Amino acid sequence: MQTASTEHKRTDIRRNDTVKVITGRDKGKEGRVLRVFPDDGKVLVEHVMLVKKHVRPNPQRNVKGGIAEQESRISLSNVQLLCPTCGPVRVGREKRGDRKVRVCKKCGTTLDK
Ligand SMILES: [Zn+2]
Repeated sequence: MQTASTEHKRTDIRRNDTVKVITGRDKGKEGRVLRVFPDDGKVLVEHVMLVKKHVRPNPQRNVKGGIAEQESRISLSNVQLLCPTCGPVRVGREKRGDRKVRVCKKCGTTLDK
């Protein structure tokens, strides 16, 4: 029997993509993808799902104590990739030449830079 853990999980979202939050507390927000966690199906998006964190002062690292805001991970299914013309869209795959690219399912524009 094959184990699921060795299976490559496909994600349509990559680091540095611009995504829009389509559901949840931060619905409507747009941001740059800081990190993708394919195994967990989660993503870290800049300025999205900010949580307040209490920070202890650490003079050696020049950290002032207090409350800092930090992004927390949200589910990949809560965000959609932004197409420059259509907005948030579903992502398709197409072969262009000898490489596979991500395309907008609405207008067919390549979403890979
Ligand atoms: Zn499009």
